[in-house]
Amino acid sequence: MYFPSAPVTLELSDISFKYSIGDRHARAFSLAQCNISARAGETMGILGPSGAGKSTLLSIIAGHLRPTTGAVRLRGRDITQVRAGLRRIVTVFQEDSLFPHLTVEQNVAYGIATLQRHSEIVASTRAEHYLRRFGLFNHRTSSPAALSVGEKQRVALCRALVAEPQVLLLDEPTASLDCIQRDVLMDLLRETLQCEKGPTIIIVSHDRDFALDLCPTIAVLDEGKVLCQGEREDLLAVPPSRRVAQILGGHFILDGQLESESMFRLSDGVPIPIKLSGRHAPAERNCSILIRKSEISLDNREHTSPCQITGRIVRITPSPLCSLVEVEIGRQIRIQIPSTGAQHAAYAAGDTISLWLSETAVQVVGRSPQSADIPEVALN
Ligand code: ADP
Repeated sequence: MYFPSAPVTLELSDISFKYSIGDRHARAFSLAQCNISARAGETMGILGPSGAGKSTLLSIIAGHLRPTTGAVRLRGRDITQVRAGLRRIVTVFQEDSLFPHLTVEQNVAYGIATLQRHSEIVASTRAEHYLRRFGLFNHRTSSPAALSVGEKQRVALCRALVAEPQVLLLDEPTASLDCIQRDVLMDLLRETLQCEKGPTIIIVSHDRDFALDLCPTIAVLDEGKVLCQGEREDLLAVPPSRRVAQILGGHFILDGQLESESMFRLSDGVPIPIKLSGRHAPAERNCSILIRKSEISLDNREHTSPCQITGRIVRITPSPLCSLVEVEIGRQIRIQIPSTGAQHAAYAAGDTISLWLSETAVQVVGRSPQSADIPEVALN
């Protein structure tokens, strides 16, 4: 969930960090001046390619790594020097972290009975509540060895939630799950997120759809830097840079030259009619356009948009759920269409087709990966 007026629970300011190894050939990885904040009850996804530093950042939040500079604040209190076990921040790791010699129920109750020193009755009542909610009550006396990977993951989540943390960190929660277990976890997390007074949750995942589906706010991390943080819909609609668009997906990225507010020419000369507001006119003629995939239509009925691209179908790859249509427009792009129905029957490889872009489908950005949306200048 996302509550814009809720107080900030977790704040990272100007966090830098460097691993100590690194030789002449490989420089040690570092995080540079990372700023992120998450509100009470918010679910935030941290997205970025493998090696971007997502797990390193989580370890700093959890207190397993100390930043070189900067501060971690929890509800306004500086906890940068506070030991991991004394923060009310719990991490659920992707690998199995359950105690093999304890039963499922003992694992779940362990944190509150032992670390928080609650009575056994309180611990087991709370454990039972979460075990029922996560569909694990019938497994309460089982050993973790008798559980599937997905069940172990749910026990680990129960154990984390029972401790009532202020911040819950999920590190690659779907990494070792099959697609059915992934969907079960997704449903359980959705229910958990809907509960009022839940913890602030930070999810690090290479599974872009999983994170985008669950997290109303997103931070994008790349090469140890936070490229942006914002509401999911805003970032998906208008990514602040070419690289953010690449990481979030959802856009075709085409390089070329902007000739006017209504004409973009791909690098190999193919013209793409577009519609831009003056605000997006670029400083450089060599730039890129982002075309939002969800705003492209193959269907020309009732279409009034002035932006139409003519292309040729190279290949159609059918699949039971949706077919992939590869279209040559000077560059090949792939568009999904339903696998059944009139639209599917109407197309064949070799056909010339029209792609209709809605008026808000196109955005201009600088060519370099990091460059932000281009500032306002007049076209000449
Ligand atoms: P991500 O979670 O985004 O995939 P990580 O935070 O795991 O990225 O890793 C970021 C970079 O830090 C990687 O290049 C990785 O090799 C390096 N790294 C991770 N752990 C260590 C470590 N203990 N010592 C040195 N380098 C590390």
